Amino acid sequence: MFVMNLKCLFRGFLTFFFLLFLSSCSNGEEATFQEIQEKTDFALNTVTTIKLYEAPSFAEEDWEKSFGVLRELEDRMSSHKEGTEVMQINLSAGLKPVRVSDDTFEVIRVAKEIAEETDGNFDPSVGAITKLWKIGSDDQHVPQKNEIEEALKKVDYRKIILDEKEKTVFLEEEGMWIDLGAIAKGFASDKVSSHLSDRGVKRAILNFGGNIALLGSKEDGVAWKIAIRKPDRNRFAIYASLFAQNESVVSSGDYERFFEQGGKIYHHIINPFTGYPTENGIRGASVILESSMRADAYATALMVMGKERAIEFIEKKGLEAMLIFEDMSSYQSFNKDRNLELGLE
Ligand code: ADP
Ligand code: MG
Repeated sequence: MFVMNLKCLFRGFLTFFFLLFLSSCSNGEEATFQEIQEKTDFALNTVTTIKLYEAPSFAEEDWEKSFGVLRELEDRMSSHKEGTEVMQINLSAGLKPVRVSDDTFEVIRVAKEIAEETDGNFDPSVGAITKLWKIGSDDQHVPQKNEIEEALKKVDYRKIILDEKEKTVFLEEEGMWIDLGAIAKGFASDKVSSHLSDRGVKRAILNFGGNIALLGSKEDGVAWKIAIRKPDRNRFAIYASLFAQNESVVSSGDYERFFEQGGKIYHHIINPFTGYPTENGIRGASVILESSMRADAYATALMVMGKERAIEFIEKKGLEAMLIFEDMSSYQSFNKDRNLELGLE
């Protein structure tokens, strides 16, 4: 069972306050007619905040419903919790297909598609490896080399068999294990965003553990100013800011979850070909897209690809993205009108 440690929780709150600060001081004063309503909760193994800017008034019950959407997804897609659909798929690996909800099917379908697109740098079947490391839990540790070698044989997204008609998922080999940690938060952001929109919300910022989804704009014709964090494990600092609206700004980095053993740092983004945390000079990757789910998966994939391949991929796909390197230099492909500001500290 994974338990979030307090350090992570604290860091999540810091992310949240920094974002608030930026979004509220970006364009002069906060419009006074906007009554801001917000709530923070702990879901999907991270700090999740919903901040409503222009919305019909939200009663306790409405908040419950909105966070309920999140909890429902967690209860379906977690690979650590007992009884989830993903857990059933994993426990049935090599045995039988498992029928799942439309949401779970959709996330696994897109995850497999992105695994293909990224040549397996993003691979939802990396669970066989992440299950050994248990990063982010009280039980995190460096696995034995032979354990990793054995588990690597079980990592292969091509062996995730989907039946569109029956809505079933089958892992072909015993021991395979799906982990949707790099894509589920994005899907949840999309889902909660559209729930809020259906509920009459016009403007909102959702921050699910650094996965930022923006509903509408800050004001008519005024975008939100969003911060990109500096990849620094020791303190909280801002690397860049840019304007965005009606889309998601998703970051992945080696500073989010990690531990130290024998003087070495091990973080939570795994190279599915080696079974070890990435060590390729990329410290952080951010992607801007309308789909939070895709942005989430791409950001993780870019972290794994390494500099050259990541840049090649961004250019080939025409992605708006940023890579921050070991020496704190960066590459970015954002549109000019985002007014990217660097070196903010
Ligand atoms: P965060 O959860 O910090 O936002 P990511 O979106 O990059 O960061 O997701 C990292 C999580 O995704 C890990 O904790 C793990 O569960 C899973 N994961 C790690 N490496 C990969 C990978 N190469 N492909 C797919 N999922 C991964
Ligand atoms: Mg991700």
